[in-house]
Order: sequence, then C-alpha cells, then structure tokens
Amino acid sequence: MTQSAMPPSEAPNTDTAAAEPEFATLRELEEAATRQRARFGESAQIVCDNLVRIYQTGEVEVQALQGLDLLVDRGELVAIVGASGSGKSTLLNILSGLDRPTAGAVRVAGHQLMGMKGRERLRYRRKTVGFVWQQTGRNLIPYLSAQENVMLPMSYTSVRRRQRSARAGELLELLGVGYCRERRPAQLSGGEQQRVAIATALANEPEVLFADEPTGELDSATSDEVFDALRGANRELGVTIVVVTHDAAVSERVGRTVEIRDGRISTETVRPAHGAHDGGSEVVAQSYAVLDRAGRVQLPHEYTEALGLRERVLLALEPDHIGIWPQHRSPDPLPASVEGDEE
Ligand code: ADP
Ligand code: MG
Repeated sequence: MTQSAMPPSEAPNTDTAAAEPEFATLRELEEAATRQRARFGESAQIVCDNLVRIYQTGEVEVQALQGLDLLVDRGELVAIVGASGSGKSTLLNILSGLDRPTAGAVRVAGHQLMGMKGRERLRYRRKTVGFVWQQTGRNLIPYLSAQENVMLPMSYTSVRRRQRSARAGELLELLGVGYCRERRPAQLSGGEQQRVAIATALANEPEVLFADEPTGELDSATSDEVFDALRGANRELGVTIVVVTHDAAVSERVGRTVEIRDGRISTETVRPAHGAHDGGSEVVAQSYAVLDRAGRVQLPHEYTEALGLRERVLLALEPDHIGIWPQHRSPDPLPASVEGDEE
C-alpha cells in the first residue's frame, strides 16, 4: 500500500505526507466528506448511492444488491446486463417504486424513493415512471384493444378523452404498431404486444421508462424490432430508458451497457456517440471496469484466474497506469512505489 491510500487523519506528519490535504479539526473533515457526498450524481436523473437490498426468508438471507452505485443522465438509453440472480430485477423494482432498498439512497427525477409514502409513491408510479415486464401477458389487459390499453393509464389523469385517443394513436404509430390499433393482445404477435406495452408505459409521458427483459420471450429478429422501438422512443420523446436484457449484442445498440455482478455494477461498455456511418470503419465499443467511490474495482474473473490472483495483490502506481501483481510473484524489478503488504 502506498501512503496516499491512508485516511488523512492517519497520515504521518512528515515531509512525505506534505501532498495530503491537512484537516485541522474533525469538523473540517466531516464537512469535506459531506461536500463529496453532495456532489455525487448531483446533475444525474437517476442516482443509486450505495444501494443495498437484503431479502430475508426464514433463516436464509440473500444480499441481492451489495452497495450498488449507478448514475444515469436525463435522456440516456442504458442497458443492464448480468447473469441470472445478479440483482437486475431487484434494482429495477426499487427504481420503479415497487420495492424499497434495505439501505442506501436512491433518487429518480428528483424523487427520493427511500422515504416516499403511499400517495406520493402511487403518483410516482403512475406519472413519473413507466414499466414494461418480460411476460407479454402481464403488460396488457386482454379484453381491451391496443388503443384502449394505451388510453387506460391516462384515465387517472385530467387528460380529455379526445386527447387521450389522439395521443394513444401517436404513440402506437411511433412504436411502429399503428396498424394494430383495433386488435386485442391475443391478435398480436409477441413483438407487437411488447411494442404496445411500451406505448402503454409511455402514455402518461413518464420521465423514465424501465423495462425488465422486454425481449426475453422473443426470437432475435423480433427482439431487434422491440429494441428499435425503444430507441425510437428515446430519440423522439427524449425519455430516459433503462432496460434489463440478456441479449449479449445489445451493447452495440444502446449508448451504455452496465453489467451487474454480485449485486454491484462491475463493468460499463460505452458506445462512441459519433461512430462510423457507412465509411466502413468499425465502431468499437469500449469496456470499462467501474471504480466505485470507495476506490473498489472488480477485476474480471478471467484476469484473476489467468494470473492466479487471490486474496492479496501488489499494487504499483505508475505515471499513467496502476500495476497489479500476484502476491507470491513479485514484479522484477520491484517498482520503487510498491510497498509490500506487511500484515
Ligand atoms: P436477476 O433479475 O438479475 O435474475 P433478481 O434481482 O431477481 O436477479 O434476484 C437477485 C437475488 O435475490 C437472487 O439470488 C434471488 O434469488 C434473490 N431474490 C429475488 N427476489 C427475492 C425475494 N422476493 N425473496 C427472496 N429472495 C429473492
Ligand atoms: Mg430478473
């Protein structure tokens, strides 16, 4: 460990520690820490700060979210991927106001979800956010036409009937299912049902749309159509979209893909905003490991396996990167900045 990793209060008062910020009193320390916290995600539309969700069933405790940090800006289209059981649905249920975290802070479009009470929560779920489930049958009412399904959420608002009808028609057109207006869900394909479901979720002009594996029951061609519809809604309406998917190719179609592993965001893949069009050069999405605010990074399993990294590693600060070595095999020659773990 290098000295810079020590908390300032423990930094030895010698010349080598001169670069450390000096805190005269505990109060100054506290103020500095608070300032740091206030800055986290200040301008973001979705802020998950150290989110924890523990499920307790009898004797068994499952930590579905283990201190998850996530920021999403207004107008982003973000995909969440991760193995089954990694906490994706848990996160989406919390963000959409269906479930509450055990600890941590979560804010969506200015609403602090942690302390939100019944009425405000209901309003939040009807107006601020929209939700699409994986099961096509769960999104739509079977005895209503597509048009009537999209109009239904608007009946909780003061929107006039004629306006409701016009808006429903526009949304169905936008999602490419205008021709399905008069059909009931049973007369629609799975992809058409999900596009009508997206229109329904957008009926009350939500600020954020959440979708939990909306293409999970669809074949890949149909799932492309649904993703195109989501992209269109994001582009045309400016609505922020967070979509959970197991589709590995999704990172090529959205702005940002975040991977949840063990209840935390582990990797982010960012697609360049201005990629090649038809010039032939490739658009390469870049993957990043996520550095959380406590300074933690999750190393990919393949990397730790390849080098046999376990329990302790040696770190070295270089001018433009940080080196990591297995404990048992010290780098040769040992960089000057490495100090072995002396525990
Ligand atoms: P994903 O959507 O990524 O597949 P989930 O968020 O559904 O994962 O689940 C994360 C973990 O929490 C899993 O281990 C799951 O078994 C557990 N879990 C989810 N919901 C409940 C619940 N209601 N009660 C107990 N455990 C749950
Ligand atoms: Mg799930």
